[in-house]
Amino acid sequence: MTCLECKKPLNYLDHRQSMDRFQAELCKTHFTRVERLVRRDEIPEEAVILYYGLKAAGIPGMLAWWDGKKTVDLAISRVKLNIEIENETRSWTAETAISELESTMEAFKNGFTTLRIPGLLIRNHLHDTIENIRGIIEGLRANIKVV
Ligand SMILES: [Zn+2]
Repeated sequence: MTCLECKKPLNYLDHRQSMDRFQAELCKTHFTRVERLVRRDEIPEEAVILYYGLKAAGIPGMLAWWDGKKTVDLAISRVKLNIEIENETRSWTAETAISELESTMEAFKNGFTTLRIPGLLIRNHLHDTIENIRGIIEGLRANIKVV
């Protein structure tokens, strides 16, 4: 048990705490740092779980990435892929649906693809989620080459 960020050995409590919360091995320092980021930028815990899952799969991302207008939960910048976690079981109004479409369109015009992934999927099917994101990244990379 060593920290994914600094390789420092973890004691059982630190291990338990960070596994329970983020499904990742983090020492107290890095756990606190990530926790602060989650609180400050209001990103969902699933973004952190996915971030470390992708990192373990060799896909580096950026947590709480500021795109100039808003904070994106997780971004894979080399293929301009933005990932937003959906958590609320919300009742959609036409206004929120339109405003979400508009923000997706704006990002798309700038070359960004936006993926919306339910938090529960990340918690319960992390491996399948990551494999699909890997496929999407490969597709995006192929498209970038064509253009
Ligand atoms: Zn650490």
